[in-house]
Amino acid sequence: MQTIYTDRLRQAGYRLTEARLTVLRVLLEERKHLTSGEVLQQVNQINPAIGRASVFRTLDLFTRLGIVRPIFLRSSLTPAYVMLYDDHHHHIICTNCNRYFDFLDCGLDNLTAELQETLDFKISGHLLEFYGICSACNS
Ligand SMILES: [Zn+2]
Ligand SMILES: [Zn+2]
Ligand SMILES: [Zn+2]
Repeated sequence: MQTIYTDRLRQAGYRLTEARLTVLRVLLEERKHLTSGEVLQQVNQINPAIGRASVFRTLDLFTRLGIVRPIFLRSSLTPAYVMLYDDHHHHIICTNCNRYFDFLDCGLDNLTAELQETLDFKISGHLLEFYGICSACNS
């Protein structure tokens, strides 16, 4: 398996262990947010020998390397992890019932270009969350 993510691990000096590759495979196949518990469950379906601690450590490592971002949708205690496909990810979240929706088009291309220019950053992605009251809670 070779992806930009395995390249990122190698460049940062990390070996492609079975645990790291399996967590990556699960995240790539799911293409949605998964909590660490859900990642663990799916990893264990592929390889039961990979333990909880190494799955959690791998998620921490992936967070540090910018391969995933933790998001706190359902509770502040259990983050879910998203891979930044196409380098961005967006939610709109109801602050009353905690329902959330993903949306694709953020229209932030101009801002991204402007930030790169003015702050001299090579931007690799963003995570965007809107908060509000959904129609069901509003009526
Ligand atoms: Zn709501
Ligand atoms: Zn999402
Ligand atoms: Zn975006």
